[in-house]
Amino acid sequence: MNATDLTDRVAVVTGGASGIGRASAAALAEAGAKVIVADYSLLSENDEPFSTLKIEQQVCDVRSERELKKLMDHAASLTGRIDILVNNAGIGMVKQIDNVSEDDWDACIGTNVKAAFFGCKHAIRHMTSDGLGGSIVNVSSNAGILPRAHDPVYSISKLALSGLTKSLALCHSKDRIRINGVCPGPVGGTRMIESEIDIADDRDAAIKRLIAASPAAQAHGRMIEVDEVAQAVLYLASDAAIMITGTLIAIDGGKSLGVPPQ
Ligand code: NAD
Repeated sequence: MNATDLTDRVAVVTGGASGIGRASAAALAEAGAKVIVADYSLLSENDEPFSTLKIEQQVCDVRSERELKKLMDHAASLTGRIDILVNNAGIGMVKQIDNVSEDDWDACIGTNVKAAFFGCKHAIRHMTSDGLGGSIVNVSSNAGILPRAHDPVYSISKLALSGLTKSLALCHSKDRIRINGVCPGPVGGTRMIESEIDIADDRDAAIKRLIAASPAAQAHGRMIEVDEVAQAVLYLASDAAIMITGTLIAIDGGKSLGVPPQ
């Protein structure tokens, strides 16, 4: 048996229109899952590749519990259950405390933490109803392992998401529900990192800085790629990881290990 075969499984991926979410949705679909991508901003460029992989697209603003419930109920209506949830939707927030408004706080915490919590709430109902359980993967961050100085609200949101992962994993192991997280370092080809590079005075220097932040990325002379995160999401979502719960996998090229040798 191939333990990463996801035939007949239903998977929901939030924020799946671009970047890590899109790559994760494709990896899950290629492994056989029926994937539903939920995003508040669907992109027409995905229509063709998603249709080839039979990936369904749904508009959903994950900051709304009502919309999340509707999404999960729809996903569960396909086969009667949800097998996999990837809480991936997220936004960055590069601001020091003096410049953070209440709206900034609500946007970042609402997207990165509250949405994952209520996503879990409404997916777990559809994983426990028949006793079979399921797998939830939260896309946290390198900032979910160690705090960072340049984006405190983002750091707080991802540290909270890492805590949410462990807390709910402990609560729901008895229900055969596994809840894990991935913690990427800077990932190329994502809108999040592209927007950081776009606002830099010197684009090339910004890319070099991002690569240099991860010792393994520096050694390979390139950024971490979306597919490298998606493969970890696929592994955690599948039965290959059946005894793994409450774990955070760093996919950060060693960024969170400490100060590298010069
Ligand atoms: P991205 O901007 O390419 O993708 C994020 C997706 O989330 C977008 O499609 C966006 O439309 C969607 N989204 C944002 N707010 C939403 C909302 N309220 N409702 C529904 N959809 C929403 O960036 P990405 O890097 O692929 O981000 C995916 C996840 O990876 C995020 O949680 C991010 O924090 C995390 N992450 C990214 C990096 C990186 O270097 N890019 C590093 C660590 C962690």
